[in-house]
Amino acid sequence: MPYTYDDQNIFAKILRGEIPNKTVMETEHTLAFEDIRPQAPVHVLVIPKGPYVTYDHFAQEASDAEIVDFTRTVGAVCAKMGVSAAEAAGCRFISNAGDHGVQEVPHLHIHILGGRPLGRMLARD
Ligand code: 5GP
Repeated sequence: MPYTYDDQNIFAKILRGEIPNKTVMETEHTLAFEDIRPQAPVHVLVIPKGPYVTYDHFAQEASDAEIVDFTRTVGAVCAKMGVSAAEAAGCRFISNAGDHGVQEVPHLHIHILGGRPLGRMLARD
C-alpha cells in the first residue's frame, strides 16, 4: 500500500511557519531544528521539506537532489553541533518509523543525539 502523507502533522506546520522552531540549519530541501523535548545535550531533528512519512518512503520516492541535500545536511549538522565521531565523541542517528518504530510525528525525521554517552541502542523488554 502506498504511503499517504498527513499535512496536518506538527512538522508540516513547522515547515509552513505555523509553529515556531529553533532552526539549526536550513537548505533548499531540508530543515534541521532542536527537539522540543531534548533527550541529550544535543538533540537535533533533521527533516526533508518534501512530504515523506518515513525514511524508507523518502529513500524510495524522493529525488536525487532531495536525498543528497538531506544527507549532506545531516553531516553538516553533526559538524556544527560538535558531535562528529571523527572530531568529537560521536552521536547516534535514529529514525523511528510506524507503529513498531513508535513514530510520534508522521513526517520523516532523523534524530541526532549527542553530548553524553547514550548507552546501548535498545533496551530489552
Ligand atoms: P518520533 O517519536 O516521531 O521519532 O519523534 C518525534 C520528536 O518530535 C520527539 O522527540 C518530540 O520531542 C519532537 N517534537 C514533537 N513536537 C514537536 C514540536 O512542536 N517542536 C519540536 N521542535 N519538536 C517536537
